Amino acid sequence: MKFAKRMERMQSSEIRELLKLTAQPDIISFAGGLPAPELFPVKEIAKVSHDLVEKEGQQLLQYATTEGRPTLRAKIAARMKDKYHTEVDPDEILITTGSQQCLDFAGKLFLDPGDVVLCESPSYLGALNAFNAYEPTFVEVPTDNVGLIPEELDKILSTTDRCKFIYVIPDFQNPTGRTWSLERRKKFMEVINKHNLPVLEDNPYGELRYEGEILPSLKSMDTKGLVMFLGTFSKIFCPGLRLGWVAASKDVVSEYVKIKQSADLHTSNFDQGIADAYMENYDLDKHVEEIKALYKKRRDLILKTMAEEFPAGTEWTHPEGGLFLWLTFPQGCSADKVFHKCIEMKVAGVTGDAFYPNGKTDRNMRINFSNMPEEKIIEGVKRMAKAIRECM
Ligand code: PMP
Repeated sequence: MKFAKRMERMQSSEIRELLKLTAQPDIISFAGGLPAPELFPVKEIAKVSHDLVEKEGQQLLQYATTEGRPTLRAKIAARMKDKYHTEVDPDEILITTGSQQCLDFAGKLFLDPGDVVLCESPSYLGALNAFNAYEPTFVEVPTDNVGLIPEELDKILSTTDRCKFIYVIPDFQNPTGRTWSLERRKKFMEVINKHNLPVLEDNPYGELRYEGEILPSLKSMDTKGLVMFLGTFSKIFCPGLRLGWVAASKDVVSEYVKIKQSADLHTSNFDQGIADAYMENYDLDKHVEEIKALYKKRRDLILKTMAEEFPAGTEWTHPEGGLFLWLTFPQGCSADKVFHKCIEMKVAGVTGDAFYPNGKTDRNMRINFSNMPEEKIIEGVKRMAKAIRECM
């Protein structure tokens, strides 16, 4: 069969093979990005699903509007105001099949082959893969411990043609766990406004803050309608429902609606009903507090165990929230070697080079700390420390 040329650009089989290794059942895996399943509100969802089918089964099982369930869009707008101090009208929200779907839609909406996508260096692999299908060139913007460096962005925008949008994750970034400071957010918006560059602000983890204050979203600072905010229920409720949203100015949302119509007509009406009814009958904030309490415990434990076990010269980020942290191995210690040594010892992370669309680094590893129980976190870090020592 002769497939489209774009398929040649899709994720290399090498990475898929590596990820397969991390999925063996007896492995202590820090490689995925999965929420803790023991926290899913299974009983409550069983109850609301049953009641919902009894109450509105016929409408629920019928086709629905592309934009999404009106009462759920209203709840999302209220939540954005409450959690992110971000004022949006329900009409400025489109419900999507996970926020991942909107990453694909953004590629479809903005990118012709050869256009430039700007992203943080490093960035979320799933987004890079989604954009990649539209055959762009990626330009990586340098970052440091407090976020993207606005002066570097300004330089790039002053010298690079065909930049169509920038993709960023300012809160508890995947893969690094870093959060942009307020100062950086302000400067970033100045540069964006100067160049009129559309921004895709991806925020799946923002509510999972374990210390410090929630910082204003870029969307809340946007005065020109340039920012498109992506949100999701995956990390505050359950990812299997595939419920996300994009909040943007009405003219942009109506473009996404056109794309969604031809992609899948609408997000599952049933799943939207479940989230809506859950929020109506139960306290989602209380549920998020339970998630935060568990992940904070796991984050504190992994940070403490790393400090006790890892050899000098290994560095890691201190995430204030979210699901990930980022390791930097000592000079001369190859992440690829550590990865393979770890697999022999039945522990796994993801090597960092996958998160850079262009350049390769061989000193980093992404670690997820939300999914493993406490005893496995301790044992996994001990094994990893041994693997690092053997690769130094
Ligand atoms: N963006 C980022 C940064 C992510 O880490 C993820 C999931 N891991 C997504 C988007 C996609 O999330 P979902 O489609 O489940 O909403």
